[in-house]
Amino acid sequence: MSASDRIIVIGAGPVGLCLSLALAQEGIAVCLIETLGDDNFLEQVPRAGTNHPATLELFERIGLYEKIEPRGIIAPRFHYWDRHEGKRIAEFDHIHLKDDTRFPYVLQCERIKIVEEALKLAKAQPLIELRLKTTFTSFQQDADGVTAHVVNAAGETETIRGAYIVSGEGARSIVRKDLGIEFEGFTYPDRTLNIEVAYDFTRHGYTERNYISDPDEWSNLFHWKGPPDRWRVHFPTEPNEDETALTRPEALQARLQKFIPTGRDYDIVGSNLYVVHQRVAKKFRVGRAILAGDSAHVNSPIGAMGMNSGIHDAFNLADKLTSIMRRETGDEVLDRYERQRRHVALQHTQAETIRNKRVLAEKDPAVRRKNHEQLHRTSEDPKLARAFLLRTSLIESLREAEQIQ
Ligand SMILES: Cc1cc2nc3c(=O)[nH]c(=O)nc-3n(C[C@H](O)[C@H](O)[C@H](O)COP(=O)(O)OP(=O)(O)OC[C@H]3O[C@@H](n4cnc5c(N)ncnc54)[C@H](O)[C@@H]3O)c2cc1C
Repeated sequence: MSASDRIIVIGAGPVGLCLSLALAQEGIAVCLIETLGDDNFLEQVPRAGTNHPATLELFERIGLYEKIEPRGIIAPRFHYWDRHEGKRIAEFDHIHLKDDTRFPYVLQCERIKIVEEALKLAKAQPLIELRLKTTFTSFQQDADGVTAHVVNAAGETETIRGAYIVSGEGARSIVRKDLGIEFEGFTYPDRTLNIEVAYDFTRHGYTERNYISDPDEWSNLFHWKGPPDRWRVHFPTEPNEDETALTRPEALQARLQKFIPTGRDYDIVGSNLYVVHQRVAKKFRVGRAILAGDSAHVNSPIGAMGMNSGIHDAFNLADKLTSIMRRETGDEVLDRYERQRRHVALQHTQAETIRNKRVLAEKDPAVRRKNHEQLHRTSEDPKLARAFLLRTSLIESLREAEQIQ
């Protein structure tokens, strides 16, 4: 096999790993480049963790579902709460999707467990040349292929040749920047505070996944499997608040006590502060260079759509690259990839996550009441609930993308 018969994938995040595994499963060789090594791969900050039904079907296709299911929590239901009134607004049950998917639930399983299990599968796959501790720095393309420049594990500069290069590098994609592709959208002025706590919130009526509206301090609350079992609580912060002050143990305790007073200290296992962007790349493909996942689009985590839609990019792209490498189609199918996945990023992922934040943070009492009544009515009507869940679980986005030529 020559170098021109393989695909170069940058980044062993969920997107790069799923793409590499899906390609290799179809007999396509991959060189997967990741800057982290075995010594620090598991030291990444907590991030995504809610895996929607359609994503679980794709995980099953590459043998990943059976690895992560035992490490996660099967969560058929999720809640909307009104913190201001201290009551539940709506409960949605994925059972309404029982005729739409084999997985009528989400799997609460953190990104770090997913990449850990997927990396093991990649290591066992002979068609994936895995280059850990190797940092991608730049690339060129010509009529026959691409040349990636990297700094390898020995600290030497090296060139790697392939037919196509896919950026699964995440939001700071060098490929996107080198191609001069605009990352259109905006960044919220307020950062989100994430606190991880060992405390069982089900005793207060919460379920594994909760979206909590409040005009002053909206919140999200998610349950993760341990040991120890943990819950992740998200809070907004003021734009100019000092990071050290925000993440001081006393400040974290005070926020949690204000959220649910328990009279004793919460067992806090971690915290971090992150900036939220809503951005979509103007192009997903230039010649032999393609963007997927966070390198192509980023959004707020409210609704759990970033990692999921990135993984949907990966499988869409894997099918198209496979047909190109088998010489069954020309590479114009990559333009269809861009049309399909850019449409999903703009019309579904961005639209939905922006709306989710607006609903949770709404300050006008009349609009809040209307929003809450609508959510409640939707959850109580099986037909409306199914339509709502098809949208929030991204099944609708996949069906719509299939219609785009
Ligand atoms: C707090 C938080 C919570 C979230 N919750 C959810 C959720 O519940 N559900 C959801 O769907 N999404 C969620 N997201 C979004 C989700 O984490 C991302 O969408 C997802 O991780 C993107 O995957 P990716 O593979 O595209 O990029 P990444 O996960 O960023 O992975 C990129 C990989 O590329 C490597 N890399 C980067 N640069 C280089 C280089 N130059 N050379 C070699 N390797 C490189 C990195 O080390 C990394 O391994 C959340 C995000 C945040 C911040």
